[in-house]
Amino acid sequence: MSRTIRQHVLRRKHYGLCLMLPLVAAGLALGIAQEDAPSRLYEVLGWIALAGAITGFVAFHYAGRCPRCTGNLGGHTHYWRLRGWPGLAPAKFCPFCGVSLDAPCQASEGEPR
Ligand SMILES: [Zn+2]
Repeated sequence: MSRTIRQHVLRRKHYGLCLMLPLVAAGLALGIAQEDAPSRLYEVLGWIALAGAITGFVAFHYAGRCPRCTGNLGGHTHYWRLRGWPGLAPAKFCPFCGVSLDAPCQASEGEPR
């Protein structure tokens, strides 16, 4: 079973969130721990958490590419519009190539890419 373009982009954005959110929480926890008992280990781990969180942020915004035209859907289409949040107009088409976001990821034979 083929995934839709929407599922493909959301999966990529979720990978970024799964990397970013826990590392932001870890960074905050390390910062709080650093206040109570300053430690070089906490400081180094905090910088590593920050670097990972920035990587997750970049993945959240730039890894969700349209499989048909490689346009940056993740950066140009709001997450909640991709998810179909109530009250927001759902994103329906790639703003770069116009393909439906509910089309399968792989173009079928004879279909323009
Ligand atoms: Zn596209």
